[in-house]
This record gives sequence, structure tokens and C-alpha cells, in this order.
Amino acid sequence: MRLMFIDPPARTPRSTVLLVLLASLWLAVFGNLALWRTLRQLPDITGWHGFAFGVAFAVIIASVVTVVLSFFAWRWTLKLAISLLLLMAAFATHYMLMYGIVVDTPMVINVFQTDTREARDQLSWQLLFTVVVLAIAPMVWLWPQPISPTALGKQALHNLALFVGGLAVAFGTTQLVFQDFSSLMRNYIDLRYQINPLNSVYALLDMTVIPAEQPRGPLQSLGLDAQIAPRTGHATQRPPLLVFVLGETARSQNFSLNGYPRPTNPLLAKENVTSFTQVSSCGTSTAESLPCMFSHLGRSGFDKRSHEFENLLDVLQHAGYAVLWMDNQSGCKGQCARIPYVNTSNLKVADLCDSGECRDTVMLTRIEQELAKLPLERRMRGTVVVMHQMGSHGPAYFKRTPAEFKKFTPECTDTSLSQCDQQQVINAYDNTIVFTDYFLSQIIDWLKTQEKTSTTALLYVSDHGESLGEKNIYLHGLPYSVAPPEQTTVPLITWLSPSFEQLSRVNSRCLQANRDKPLSHDHLFHSVLGLMAVKTSVYQRERDFFAICEGR
Ligand SMILES: [Zn+2]
Repeated sequence: MRLMFIDPPARTPRSTVLLVLLASLWLAVFGNLALWRTLRQLPDITGWHGFAFGVAFAVIIASVVTVVLSFFAWRWTLKLAISLLLLMAAFATHYMLMYGIVVDTPMVINVFQTDTREARDQLSWQLLFTVVVLAIAPMVWLWPQPISPTALGKQALHNLALFVGGLAVAFGTTQLVFQDFSSLMRNYIDLRYQINPLNSVYALLDMTVIPAEQPRGPLQSLGLDAQIAPRTGHATQRPPLLVFVLGETARSQNFSLNGYPRPTNPLLAKENVTSFTQVSSCGTSTAESLPCMFSHLGRSGFDKRSHEFENLLDVLQHAGYAVLWMDNQSGCKGQCARIPYVNTSNLKVADLCDSGECRDTVMLTRIEQELAKLPLERRMRGTVVVMHQMGSHGPAYFKRTPAEFKKFTPECTDTSLSQCDQQQVINAYDNTIVFTDYFLSQIIDWLKTQEKTSTTALLYVSDHGESLGEKNIYLHGLPYSVAPPEQTTVPLITWLSPSFEQLSRVNSRCLQANRDKPLSHDHLFHSVLGLMAVKTSVYQRERDFFAICEGR
């Protein structure tokens, strides 16, 4: 008997050039489902003309991807590079289709700053499906393919050919459809952020190697001359205590204090609060807004800054106040680097904390013991506490509220918001505003108990707004120039105790008369300094919204 050994049929080795071209085509066509959907909805080019333009657009994308891959088309790096692009395109496609987002640099920075808990909120079966079909399936085909061995010099020539060929085809095709192409790119600025995977590649380069406007040099100190102005002619010597609540994803229009027809602010409505109705945010995401909110520069100055500067909290500390940052979310984005900080999101408090997340009210259970840790001589002068909320963080709005606050039902419980009826999304979101209303009123109640030893005030402002399905857009983070007002108009609420009104000479009735004046995050830095009577050369009175109501 003779044993027969039969070799499995040998796989034909593939050339790197073929793999690059296949990957480029796949990415251009299937990695851009969201872009094709957008193009179809645009009124500018339709019918056969639109289809031909779409084909040309796909050829341009494929050839630019070929140019990108020509740098990595070596035997040992090509599969890895293709796989990364496939995964980036698949994840981006899911979020673009589900939430109408686009991929620009701030969005990618957000992705890197998102903690695992937030990421877990966003996992879904739809995401898994999209990634498997668009990325995993072609990777399963790609990885077993043998690559034909090529001498290094010859491979370099092949790669150069891919690079030059890709550029030539991209350039030539662009010329063919130049009229349509340039007018579309001009009229729809965010279209360029929808081109997968080039949007992600560009954002990664922008964050790392493109030097451009990145501020340089060491951190510049700010307001070293800050002093607390003596408050003369006032009987009470109780030091001021300001709680600055940094809201999350709250949009102005869903506050009944600002005219929303649903009763989302039943508790604050009973307090002597002032709610400003026309406040615009500095950015459309936490990572973009936060540093800008605490900066002295304002939105336009912050974008053009030549250096990184210290912020509002540093100036308050220079003046001699006790300053504390309590964080119930994903961190302070560098704003609390030089002041005392406490994270409450990972506490284990029964009824308030569950699966790695705590209700915002947990900060109140901790505040007294945390304040007691601050230096006494500073507390004698006064205290500013920032409370960074979990607030209305999406897309899992329903997870932000305990059962007894679910006033509006049914709620959307799918993190793929576009799968829900829009009203259910709004219900779940409005319940988070009802809970924030409760949280803020609890703070006011607590501040009233502190009046024996302090003179107290509350300032609440959100970092950015949220889209809840208007024009099929969900969540936030669109480039500011194209972001809808839902994402950029934020609530700003103040409450001053009667003794604080006396101390600061700011009259609540006057604030209420000015509540419809246009304001922005640009005013925060100077308004807090004004309210806390900090004298410093960096203070600008024209940006202090309390100044007009100071009864001097
Ligand atoms: Zn945010």
C-alpha cells in the first residue's frame, strides 16, 4: 500500500499592487455608504448626472486611498494598513449613518478622550453588524492571501507607480467633474468630513504631525496679580461660596424656564433663579468647549492662541480663594491640573451608583467632606466649587435618570437613536433635564443650609447642546460653522442668595430684565471673576454679564 500525500491547492500569490487596488475600491464604494446617502439627498445633482458624478467621486476617493496605501505597500505592512483603514471606515460609517455625525479633528480627539464607560454606552448590534460586513469580512479574505515575494528595489518601484498613478487618476477625474465638485465642496462644508477613511486619516495627521496652529512653548501663567477686592460697607463678613455647575449636553430650548412647553424645570421654577435664554457655546463637544469656557480669550481668541494659558480656576486660586473640581464625568480635560480634584463617578454609594456610573447627586453627598480638606485660610476668604455633571450625556439618555424621574414615557432605550421614534428620544432626553432640575434645586437647598457660615450662589452652564433627530442629526460635535442651534445654544442659570446679592451688589431683578440678551461662553471667565470680586489685569468688564446689574 502506498500512502498518498496530496498538497492542498496552493493559493496563488497576490501582488501588493492588486491588493492595494482592491482595498481602495472597497473602501471608496462600501466604506462611504454615509457619503452616498448624503449625496443622494442633495438637491444639486440628481438622476443620471448625479449617478455619473457619484462614480467619478468614488474614483477620486479610490485613487487618493491608493496614494495613501502606496506608503505602506510593503510585504509586512500592507495587510495591517488596509485593516486599519477598513476598521476606521466601518466605525465611522456606523456613527455617520446612525447619528449624522462627521469625522473631523475635534471628533477624533473626543474619541480618544472617551472613557470605557461612555464607549460601552454606544456599543450596539448595529455597530457590530456594520463592522463585520464592512471591515471584518474583507479582512478574513485578505489575511490568508500570500503576497508574492518581490525584491525591495522592485517593490519600491511598484509603490512609486501606485503613488504617481493614484495622483494622476485623482487629478484627471477631478478635472472632469470640476464644476460640480468645487461647488459641492463650497456649499456643503461638512461633506469633506464625510469621506471615509480619508477624514480619519486627515484628523489623525492633524492631531499628530501637522504642526500648523498648535500652540507651543511652556504654559503661560495668568492673573498673577489677582487680588480679592475688599467689600466695603457690608455688614456680613461671611466668605462667599460659589458652586459652578458645569452641565453636560443640555440644550437651552428644552428648559421650561426658557419657554419649553413641557414642565422640565418644576423645582427651579419655584426658586429665585435667572435663566438666560440666548447663550451660545464655545464648541460643539466637551473636548472643544471645556478649555475654551475657562479661558480668558473667548472663542475666536482661543482658536488663534499662540500659547497655552492658565485658566479661570488658576486665577481664582492666585487671588487666594479655595478652589475644588468635583468630577462625575470623564475628567476635566486639563482644566483642573493645578487645583484640588475629586472624581465621584467611580464611588460605590448604594442607590446612587451602579455599574461604574453615579448619579450627579452623589457630588452633594461628598461636598462637605471634600471642602473640609481645602486649606482653612483659603476657605476663610471664599470658595469656588466646580461640579462637572454627567447630565444629559447621550446616546443612552435613559441611563441618566432613576425610575422616579421618568416623567415622559415611553423612552428610547436603544443607543442607536435613529432606530427609535423621535418622540421617544425626546422623552428620554427631557427626563435627563428633569433630573438636572432636581440636582440644581438640591444644590440650592444645600447652599441655603450653608448660609450660616457662607454667602452663597450657584452658576449653571452647559458645555454644548444636542441634536435630537432634527434633520436626521443626532448627538453633537458637528463643526461649529455648520452646527445647528440645537448644538450651540446652551442654558445658563444663576441663583444668588439674598446675602450674596448684598455682598456682590448684583440685583437679581436686574439680571431677570436682561435674561434675553445675547451671551456666550466668552463671558464666563470675566463674569465669575466679577462675581467673586477678583481684581486683576486680565479681567474685562465688558465681558462680565453681572456688571450691568451691579448697583454701585
Ligand atoms: Zn459635553
